[in-house]
Amino acid sequence: MIIFKKAGALSGFLVKQKDASKKIGFVPTMGALHHGHLSLIKESKGENEITVCSIFINPTQFNNNEDFVAYPVMIEKDITLLIDAECDILFLPSEEEIYKSGYVSRHYNLGYLESVLEGFYRPNHFQGVCQVVERLINIVDPDKLYLGQKDYQQCLVIKKLLTIISRESQVNIKICPTEREPDGLAMSSRNLRLNEDHRKIAPWIFKTLFSINENFDSGNYDQLKETAKQDLESKGFIVDYVEIADADTLNPASNNTSKSIALIAATIDKIRLIDNLMLN
Ligand code: AMP
Repeated sequence: MIIFKKAGALSGFLVKQKDASKKIGFVPTMGALHHGHLSLIKESKGENEITVCSIFINPTQFNNNEDFVAYPVMIEKDITLLIDAECDILFLPSEEEIYKSGYVSRHYNLGYLESVLEGFYRPNHFQGVCQVVERLINIVDPDKLYLGQKDYQQCLVIKKLLTIISRESQVNIKICPTEREPDGLAMSSRNLRLNEDHRKIAPWIFKTLFSINENFDSGNYDQLKETAKQDLESKGFIVDYVEIADADTLNPASNNTSKSIALIAATIDKIRLIDNLMLN
């Protein structure tokens, strides 16, 4: 695996690969890698000649400084995992390399997507996501971007970003399934911060999503959401939202919605966890 720290060097290398007709798959991450990240690498390796993974903890997407400071960093372990996964390239930039002096942030018009759910509870979060993803796409110029369904709203935001920056016809997006622990907890770098007691409670988020799916046929979404919220609160979570939404738009689902998704964000001991499940 080749490690690049400079954007210019990476771009130069990748342009040569593209000139040689090699397809480039790209997996952007914030490190503290787990099996979820590695599943994206595997998917990319199966479909492209070159797989690039980036590790960059993007400060502009943290609306909460405490969360940024506490974000786990384990770069040596990450490098070992990426080598074992036979990732071709790791891009490991400094903050200065991403936001070079003189960098001027723009505003991305994400519309409704930015005012609901994660957008509502994490003001400016998706503006930060768009800033870093636009910059990374310009550097890597991938054929395909691999994203996890775990961050479902982020997937929709990045799809919209591609249209805003007129890249939708050049960069394909593949949304990969959420990898879970045996007890159902969605893998997340933030899980590392859970203590033993909270780790035991954390799978209730998935159990609650599962239960919404089991009872989805009832059609009474308000009741399902309220019961789910109460269940989670009784376990000790502070619930930001339980939503049943149209999977294409994230508008609240109605009985006529063809593809619905349940989404939950809840905090336990200041650690905010999100998860979602397509309903059928
Ligand atoms: P992060 O490092 O948390 O920014 O995540 C980097 C990428 O990995 C994003 O596209 C995430 O959606 C994806 N990802 C995170 N957790 C999982 C998971 N449990 N399963 C699959 N993909 C994931």
